[in-house]
Amino acid sequence: MTRIVDLLGYQPTLSFEFFPPADEVAAKQLEETLDELSGLAPSFVSVTCGVGGDGHDRTRDIVTDICRDRPFPAMAHLTCVGHTRQGVAALLDDYAAAGVVNILALAGDPPDGSAISGDFRYASELVEVVRAHPARFSVGVAAHPEVHPRSTDRATDRRHLSAKLSQADFAITQFFFNPADYTRLCNELADLGCHQPVIPGVMPVIWPKSILRYAEMNGSAFPEPLFAELESLSGPARIRAAANAATELSQSLLNAGAPGIHLYTLNRSEASIQIAAKLSL
Ligand code: FAD
Repeated sequence: MTRIVDLLGYQPTLSFEFFPPADEVAAKQLEETLDELSGLAPSFVSVTCGVGGDGHDRTRDIVTDICRDRPFPAMAHLTCVGHTRQGVAALLDDYAAAGVVNILALAGDPPDGSAISGDFRYASELVEVVRAHPARFSVGVAAHPEVHPRSTDRATDRRHLSAKLSQADFAITQFFFNPADYTRLCNELADLGCHQPVIPGVMPVIWPKSILRYAEMNGSAFPEPLFAELESLSGPARIRAAANAATELSQSLLNAGAPGIHLYTLNRSEASIQIAAKLSL
C-alpha cells in the first residue's frame, strides 16, 4: 500500500476527506460518493475519527475496507486524547495487520466541558508512539493556518506545530478561505527550520450555515460576502458557486507551491468532481 509521504513533492496530490456514516442511509451515500470519486483517481483519501465511544473502531473498519477494495490508499485519522497507550498500540497493530500504512495523528477534542483524560495530552505524544511502531507508518499531523483556537498566541502555536511536524512526514491544514493564511503559515514554519510539506485543506461550502458553525469553532474567518452569496442559492447552483470559490482558492494555493489539495467532501461528490475538473488534477 502506498505511503503518502512517497507521493509528495512530485505531481500535486488530490485527496478527499470523509467522515464515518451515522446510519445505513449515510453508509450507502458514502459508498456512492466513493464510487463517483474513484473516477478521479485520488492520490489518497482520509477518514475522520470520532472522539470516544466506538469512534476508533468505526474509522478502522472503513479505512480497512477502502484499502482492501479501492485502488487508492486510505489514511486513518487517529485521536489520542481520552485514550490509553495500550488501546492505541492495539489499534496500530490492527492497522498494520490490515496493510494500512497511513495515519493522521491528532489530539482530538475532549467532549464539551470534560477534563482531558487518558494517557495523552498533545498530538506530538501520539506521533512518537506511531513513529515507534514497527510498521513504519507514514505520519501526518494537523495544522491550523489561523492558529489553533486553544493556543495562547501565534508564536507559541507555531513553535508547538513546528516541533510536532518535524517528527512527522507532512501536515494537512484546517480549512480556511484566505490563501495568505497558508503562505504565512509556511513562512513561519520555514523560519523555525521546519520544511515538511503542508497540504492545504479546502472546504467547498455546500452547507453554508453548518460550515459557518465549524468555522467559528475552528477560528476560521468565513468571508461574509461568500456566506451571503451561497446562502442566497440552493441546489445545483449553490454547489456550482461553492465549487467555483473552492477552485479559485485551490488554484491560488497551488500557484503558491502547495504540494496538493485536500478537499473536505462532507461525504458528497458533486463539488469535488467540479473542482478536480477545473484544476485539471
Ligand atoms: P495538538 O497538536 O496537540 O495542539 C492542540 C493545542 O495544544 C494547540 O493549541 C497547540 O499549540 C497546543 N500544544 C501542542 N503541543 C503542546 C505542548 N507541548 N505544550 C503546550 N501546548 C501544546 N478531530 C477529531 O476529533 N477527529 C478527526 O478525525 C479530526 N481530523 C482533523 C483533521 C485535520 C486536517 C485537522 C486540521 C483537524 C482535525 N481534527 C479532528 C481536529 C483536531 O483534533 C482539533 O483541532 C484538536 O483540538 C487539536 O488537534 P491537534 O492534533 O492539532 O492538537
